Amino acid sequence: MKLATKLIHAGAEPDPSTGAIMTPIYQTSTYVQEAPGVNKGFEYARSQNPTRKALEEALAVIENGNYGLAFSSGVAATDAVIKLLAPGDEVICGNDMYGGTYRLFTKVFERFGIKFHYVDMHDASGLQAYMNEKTKLIWIETPTNPLMNICDIAAVTALAKPKGILVCVDNTFASPYLQNPLDLGADIVMHSVTKYLGGHSDVIQGALIMKDADLREKLYFIQKSCGAVPGPMDCFLVLRGIKTLHVRMRQHCENGRHIAHWLRNHPKVGKVYWPGFEDHPNHAIAKKQMRDFGGMISFVLKNDSVEEARRVLSSTKIFSLAESLGGVESLINHPASMTHASIPREERIKNGLSDSLIRLSVGIEDVEDLEADLAAAIG
Ligand SMILES: *Cc1c(COP(=O)(O)O)cnc(C)c1O
Repeated sequence: MKLATKLIHAGAEPDPSTGAIMTPIYQTSTYVQEAPGVNKGFEYARSQNPTRKALEEALAVIENGNYGLAFSSGVAATDAVIKLLAPGDEVICGNDMYGGTYRLFTKVFERFGIKFHYVDMHDASGLQAYMNEKTKLIWIETPTNPLMNICDIAAVTALAKPKGILVCVDNTFASPYLQNPLDLGADIVMHSVTKYLGGHSDVIQGALIMKDADLREKLYFIQKSCGAVPGPMDCFLVLRGIKTLHVRMRQHCENGRHIAHWLRNHPKVGKVYWPGFEDHPNHAIAKKQMRDFGGMISFVLKNDSVEEARRVLSSTKIFSLAESLGGVESLINHPASMTHASIPREERIKNGLSDSLIRLSVGIEDVEDLEADLAAAIG
């Protein structure tokens, strides 16, 4: 079955009691048992909920996995993956990634004796220097937030597999429409469902998808034991969001391509970060592992002035100044003071995240209006 059909039909069985075509919102905490221990597969809603089950089945299908698990947020999903590890274990991860992931690793899990190596993942072979018998996990984010760096997923999994190291890919920026890491050898795909999968800026949710049954059992155990599960209403909203992912993503990509080129030709704009440019350092890898290049773009002004950047950020009318991304509406964000403020300044600067960097989540409005809005703001 092709992706567009999967997106609309995956996990969606007519409700057995009424035939309702849309999965009902099972707003319940518990399920009545016929006799002690005799039930219909549902005991308590932290462990199982029919709305969540339908969503988890859909997530598995659209990422070409066998199992999906939904969490109360993207960071809760990341948290569950790190809880597979034990004190003394080591993780290799990128030096440019979502600020909340960095905060979770440095401020929470380093205290529990897990060691993280924050490295440049631009060249996969460079990771070998950090691999040893304690390495248990490689955490990949590609494209990265906010510098749009690309990591070669297949090259990393080829290095990790023979050593028994798990590979988890944060696929939030690409969405399953653009990239399917399990097909490239990754063990786990993580999503901030809050972004493109939900797609309408109305829900916080996370997900993990995998092929391996043992891994699913371990992660399901963590999901129900630690309890970061999403409510049924949120699961319903995401089931609905997923049905239009392909239509939205096509437009995000088309608008993104237009805005990226327009910015690049603007006399006041300096470097534009977008993996679709042929001179992006890993354009060839992006082209190989992604179907298109998405609607996320970062840029700096030519004079690199923080004051000028702040003025642009406060001047747009259609692009709303806000954290988050992946919704139908366009957003503009200042990583240094917003999404990535939890990363110390010297770390940010060292990794190329300038104080004047502006990040756009290009929405699916009319692209001429988006261009005019940016033109007026940049001046
Ligand atoms: C937003 C985001 C997260 C965190 O997800 P939440 O749903 O906000 O908890 C993780 N990774 C990336 C790339 C993100 O953009």
